Amino acid sequence: MRELDMTRITDNLLNVYNYAFVEAMPYGFFKPDDPYHDYVGVRLKNKAYHCPACKGEFIVNFRNDNDGITYFSQSRIDDQKRVYAEMGMEFPDEARLKDEDFTYQAVGYCQACAEKELASSDKPGQKIIKLCHDLHMLDELVAAKAKQRMTDAVQRWVDSIEDSSQLLKLDISTHHDDLKDLVCAIILEDTKELEDALQEYRDAVQPLVYELKQLNASQPIDWQAYVPRTSTIYESMTDEEYHEYTVAFPADDTEGQDFYIYKTVERERVEMFISQRRIRSLEEMLMDTGFHEEWVDMIVDKGTSLKK
Ligand SMILES: [Zn+2]
Repeated sequence: MRELDMTRITDNLLNVYNYAFVEAMPYGFFKPDDPYHDYVGVRLKNKAYHCPACKGEFIVNFRNDNDGITYFSQSRIDDQKRVYAEMGMEFPDEARLKDEDFTYQAVGYCQACAEKELASSDKPGQKIIKLCHDLHMLDELVAAKAKQRMTDAVQRWVDSIEDSSQLLKLDISTHHDDLKDLVCAIILEDTKELEDALQEYRDAVQPLVYELKQLNASQPIDWQAYVPRTSTIYESMTDEEYHEYTVAFPADDTEGQDFYIYKTVERERVEMFISQRRIRSLEEMLMDTGFHEEWVDMIVDKGTSLKK
């Protein structure tokens, strides 16, 4: 398993998925020369999602970065005024946004209601969102499965060792590089389960991608649909280029849950997501997972327990 000189395929898929459906631009870790220009400082405390179907409310607290102040573009403030008005709530005094806790209001179907109201939608624009989300989950799952199955292979090998003489024969007690080589050999000799996981993934992905291409090809350049957004992802408070003063990060203990927000989806970005390169071979699967030190630890721990 060589060191990776490229972005992991599954990381890239996640980035493209987010680009197509969640945030239009990647987050830039830079400090602008004049962060306050054209922005409105807001003491942003949390975000309230309101489900239009069950009328449920779900609060996500934000991390208290930049002394609790997040910078909004004026267009985003105007947008919030509209949402507040639509919900029959009074928008706070604009002169005091920097002093008083502000709750960002969003309307979005909760996961349970989305399953009832949106999942079976016949509208191609909404169906595309569902299928892309299914594809995204498969991409995420195959990465998790690959690592788990490689860990299982190391575990099976560790379990097969009954006394310390078997380990001594390998002369691996102290050399980290030898242990690493051993782990690689163990995994490469026990790939049946990995190959099965890869086959399952490919069998599931292929018809999905085919159906998505057909559906997407007859869509307009862009359309409106309900798009899932996870509660744990950061959010930009500008619609243009954004940076650390305009981004709100959910608190670390935020419970992960999808909310379906009505927004514009672009055909070209959907096409970009569905035609991305996906894991196709065992070698790519191994490379994508990379090497994990915990596998070396499993062997070291076994050696230690046998010596007792
Ligand atoms: Zn609901």
